[in-house]
Amino acid sequence: MLADIRYWEKIGQKNGFAIPHFNVWNAEMLMGVIDAAEEANAPIIISFGTGFIKNTIFEEFAPMMVSMAKNAKVPVITHWDHGRSMDIVKNAYNHGMNSIMRDASSLPFEENIAELQRIVDYFHPLNIPVEAELGHVGDPGKYEDVMKQYQFTDPDEAKEFVEKTHVDSLAVAIGNVHGVYTSKPQIAFDVLEKIRDKVDVPLVLHGASCIPDEDVKKAVSLGICKVNIHTELGLAAMDAIKENTNVSFLELEQLVRKAVKQRALEKIELLGDYNKADLRLDE
Ligand SMILES: [Zn+2]
Repeated sequence: MLADIRYWEKIGQKNGFAIPHFNVWNAEMLMGVIDAAEEANAPIIISFGTGFIKNTIFEEFAPMMVSMAKNAKVPVITHWDHGRSMDIVKNAYNHGMNSIMRDASSLPFEENIAELQRIVDYFHPLNIPVEAELGHVGDPGKYEDVMKQYQFTDPDEAKEFVEKTHVDSLAVAIGNVHGVYTSKPQIAFDVLEKIRDKVDVPLVLHGASCIPDEDVKKAVSLGICKVNIHTELGLAAMDAIKENTNVSFLELEQLVRKAVKQRALEKIELLGDYNKADLRLDE
């Protein structure tokens, strides 16, 4: 069933688990993560973003995302990841995404605030929740190099940002980076704790693929309630492709779907999301 991200993030926050956000851009990935969610009886977020438009026409794929979310036996949120402009997130909404991220984290602080105010003013009357990013989650690259110019989320700025923009959730930069980590990520749990003390909106961890399990668990225990998984789903799919070179394309796609499902199940388990679909907020 189509679900509200605010409701599930709140339940996660209250019960100490996180909702997995799975980036999907083809049928095998989409079906694989829905398979996992249904088997695990777990709420999930399925998400698309500009990075995938060279592979898949969003406007054609979105109806499949929405249909599968509606028909799923478990709560599913349809989300747009890292929206880089008002037009992009409006287009996402117009094609059925019921949650959007407007990432203006590359702008100076005051401009990020002004832009998110504009976005929230537009989307809240439509009952669409808005995620923002403050600080800047590192872009893919050699981890040490990315960290040299890394912009951690400032806890005091986070407080001011949330108060002024009324965003529904906040993606934080605490040593996390998009893509594959070239060395063990150093997650700044002290920064996360300080942010958690200052703001009460749900906090989001991007670039969570390949962060060691114990660090992800610790981040969830310190208040992260949405965790974005992208790279690892692709890695699982690629492993299935490499291991099965002698099968037909038809069969290979089924094996990719299974591999994606398996990795998604591991993440659902890791985040404490397993069997949470029947939880209610007042329980
Ligand atoms: Zn991200």
